[in-house]
Amino acid sequence: MQYYYSSKNPDSLGVIRVHAEKCRELPDVLTRIYLGIFPNSSLAISTAKEKLQLTKVRVCNCCVD
Ligand SMILES: [Zn+2]
Repeated sequence: MQYYYSSKNPDSLGVIRVHAEKCRELPDVLTRIYLGIFPNSSLAISTAKEKLQLTKVRVCNCCVD
């Protein structure tokens, strides 16, 4: 289980990235949203979509399970 966060700001493609807590690209505390503790990134993604009402959500490239 890991803590997951989403960025507050979309990237250049309009996609919001979800990061695990140990990600080296984890946004700083002011520009991230805590999602919860999940066993994998797919659950973190679906929670982000539901909670933040977003459709374009992807896991960060280095946080893929
Ligand atoms: Zn990452």
